[in-house]
Amino acid sequence: MKIFDYRAANSVAEAIAAAGPGSAFLAAGTEVVPALRDGLLHPDRLIDLLPLGLDGIERRDDGLRLGGLARLSDIASHPEVLASAPALASAIEQSGTAAIRSMGTLAGNLLQQVRCPYYRGAAPCNRRAPGSGCSVARGDQRHAALMPLSFHCAAVHPSDPAVALASLDATIVVEGRAGRRTLSLDQLYPAAGAVLGVPSVLESGDLIIALDLPAGRLPGRYAKIRDRSSFDFALVSAAGGLRLEGGVVVEAALALGGIAWKPWRCRRAEAMLVGRPWSADLVRQAVAAELSGATPLEGTRFKVELAIRAAATVLDPGGPS
Ligand SMILES: Cc1cc2nc3c(=O)[nH]c(=O)nc-3n(C[C@H](O)[C@H](O)[C@H](O)COP(=O)(O)OP(=O)(O)OC[C@H]3O[C@@H](n4cnc5c(N)ncnc54)[C@H](O)[C@@H]3O)c2cc1C
Repeated sequence: MKIFDYRAANSVAEAIAAAGPGSAFLAAGTEVVPALRDGLLHPDRLIDLLPLGLDGIERRDDGLRLGGLARLSDIASHPEVLASAPALASAIEQSGTAAIRSMGTLAGNLLQQVRCPYYRGAAPCNRRAPGSGCSVARGDQRHAALMPLSFHCAAVHPSDPAVALASLDATIVVEGRAGRRTLSLDQLYPAAGAVLGVPSVLESGDLIIALDLPAGRLPGRYAKIRDRSSFDFALVSAAGGLRLEGGVVVEAALALGGIAWKPWRCRRAEAMLVGRPWSADLVRQAVAAELSGATPLEGTRFKVELAIRAAATVLDPGGPS
């Protein structure tokens, strides 16, 4: 392992000032420490954020503010989250293990690297070693994307909470060298075809301070389909909900996970649902239309049907609340 400098940050300004080329932020380290050990990360300097706190969960007039360094387990068990964003609580409860949830932070979860076996293995991977090739084309495609970032990388974003946050219209508060700015979940992740290697568009010195959940959103549900129920990353997941009036859909929110390099907010499906009488067929058609632009590999074709079924679970008005 490369020798690096370690600094504990005592203020946000200090953390940002200490960051630079070759530095990395450290929260609970459940992602960073294995990456150091496995030679995926070679920082000159690690800047420890935990002394900053930034872990509160606070009701505001316009919604709920979650500290960027809030522990996943504290979010999932918080009464305000359970009441207004059960989809998020459920997504967290289905993430990792109890030990990971009680250590891991929300910002760290959103910024985790892909779980593609080739990124974390020795076979060619454009994300780990740009230009070396992508082993997914001739390899294990089960966990690959239906909507790849680009020809060079077919890995999916592994976060469960991100999918729920996308369905809840969460915004991310970032403090950086140029001051404070807010991003949508969609803006946090690279645009299709973007440069490989990094999971988000954040630059050195950009610190996630908080996430805001606007008031009045559909609380929603979360469905995760995975190979192993003890703990595993999603093959496909869905977050969202519906509001009906007289059997007609008047509001819909849907995001899918496990299908792309970012949580996939299904605007097209939502538009097809609103204004029509709810039926299981309508949901199926809407999600199929959303996925009509997908470019599945031979080994990911099954995910189209899986995504439709996951979405049907959260968009079933008769389902568990
Ligand atoms: C065995 C295992 C199983 C898992 N299963 C799941 C799962 O099923 N579903 C799921 O969603 N996740 C899963 N995870 C991921 C887990 O939730 C994350 O590892 C954890 O949330 C990361 O938080 P952390 O505080 O440890 O981040 P760290 O490891 O400290 O940091 C992760 C990244 O975020 C950056 N970072 C951290 N905080 C900030 C900040 N405030 N501002 C800017 N950058 C920051 C770091 O620089 C680093 O790049 C699993 C992890 C493990 C190890």
